[in-house]
Amino acid sequence: MNKSNYDIAVIGAGIIGLATAMQLTIKFPLLKIAVLDKETVTAEHQTGHNSGVIHAGIYYKPGSAKASFCYTGNQELRKFCDENSVPYKMCGKLVIAVNKHEIPMLEELHKRGTANGVEGLQIIGKDELREKEPNAAGLKAIWSPNTGIIDYKKVTESYADIFTKNEGDLHLNSKVKAITRENKMVVLETENKTIKSKYVINCAGLHADQIAKLMGHDSGIRIVPFRGEYYSIDKDRKNMINGLIYPVPDPSMPFLGVHFTTRIDGTVEAGPNAVLAFAREGYSKFAFNLKDAFNTVSFPGFWKMSAKHWKTGFEEQYRSINKNSFLKSLQYLVPDIKMSDLTEPGSGVRAQAVDMAGNLLQDFSIIEADKAIHVLSAPSPGATSSLTIGRHIVDLAQKNFEL
Ligand SMILES: Cc1cc2nc3c(=O)[nH]c(=O)nc-3n(C[C@H](O)[C@H](O)[C@H](O)COP(=O)(O)OP(=O)(O)OC[C@H]3O[C@@H](n4cnc5c(N)ncnc54)[C@H](O)[C@@H]3O)c2cc1C
Repeated sequence: MNKSNYDIAVIGAGIIGLATAMQLTIKFPLLKIAVLDKETVTAEHQTGHNSGVIHAGIYYKPGSAKASFCYTGNQELRKFCDENSVPYKMCGKLVIAVNKHEIPMLEELHKRGTANGVEGLQIIGKDELREKEPNAAGLKAIWSPNTGIIDYKKVTESYADIFTKNEGDLHLNSKVKAITRENKMVVLETENKTIKSKYVINCAGLHADQIAKLMGHDSGIRIVPFRGEYYSIDKDRKNMINGLIYPVPDPSMPFLGVHFTTRIDGTVEAGPNAVLAFAREGYSKFAFNLKDAFNTVSFPGFWKMSAKHWKTGFEEQYRSINKNSFLKSLQYLVPDIKMSDLTEPGSGVRAQAVDMAGNLLQDFSIIEADKAIHVLSAPSPGATSSLTIGRHIVDLAQKNFEL
């Protein structure tokens, strides 16, 4: 086999693509595996722009893939990091009910987390809450000791190192533009080379639906990009926050609400919100890509989603353009936060999968197709769950590709 012929080609060098590729080389050392990414470095999109939280698995519906993958993923990730010297910190997290009407939902979350097997979850009252986070408001909170912080770019680099040491080929700067079939091989055309592979695993994140379509698979699911905007808390005031402070989320939405996140490098971020982006990689407020915007507005599911969630959408949009409104959401959790504390804006773009009926997919969606596996939805806690998701995909590949 020459350098451009493979058994399996993985499209996407984000955390899911590389977790999968690394585990393929461990389980099947004789197979030729390639990873292709259009960028010049790994983890350039969702993985490199996320909040860096190792989730414990509190929120997710018991029995869902998110619930089981997150619980196992949290443990597998920590073991991997211990063995491969990737720093992380189990700082714990608070989910806070500020008003009385949020307490039933807080209790429901506590039940969910406990049903998901999350260890150590406790409901704590005002006094204990203030001991942990003296500047936070709130009546009651869930304390989750098994939540932590990490740099997922470093985790992905570590997966990539093992993958390449195991003789996997990482093709960066290789955007897949067309996919055809030739005899029994799938042919991936990139700007500068042609790669042939017996099988393909699509981990293209924000472009996963487009790659699936290039392979002739259309499940009706589309990626609608949502930008999450955040600010850094001024370095002289970041000590107001000790760890991770979250609100009680809206159960109908897949997002967790604006929160405070201490990063592994010691900085503190406030956000992210969730606003519709008019470009799949639209990191700035004014980013616009005609093709991406057309894809979104020509999708019937987008209009059905908008009809269902127009009020939340409007509120999020308003909070995006009005910094005062953003500040108010933060002051709900930490009243002493001031406008001057909010510095250095940043953002990430979430690949939100939406179906034809306008439903926001809440769970992971990994689909088997002819000579391919497509990861059509890998939302948060996808990074926490990366090793478990990767193992699940390797098991599907073993069965589906008859390895
Ligand atoms: C704002 C935000 C906050 C989050 N916070 C957390 C968190 O705290 N904890 C957590 O567990 N999860 C979090 N998540 C979720 C987590 O980041 C994702 O689940 C995870 O990064 C998905 O990884 P991925 O590999 O599927 O996608 P990506 O990281 O987006 O990787 C996809 C890759 O595919 C490549 N690609 C796309 N098209 C092509 C093409 N045509 N040819 C070649 N390459 C292509 C892209 O360049 C990219 O590198 C967050 C996500 C966001 C956006």
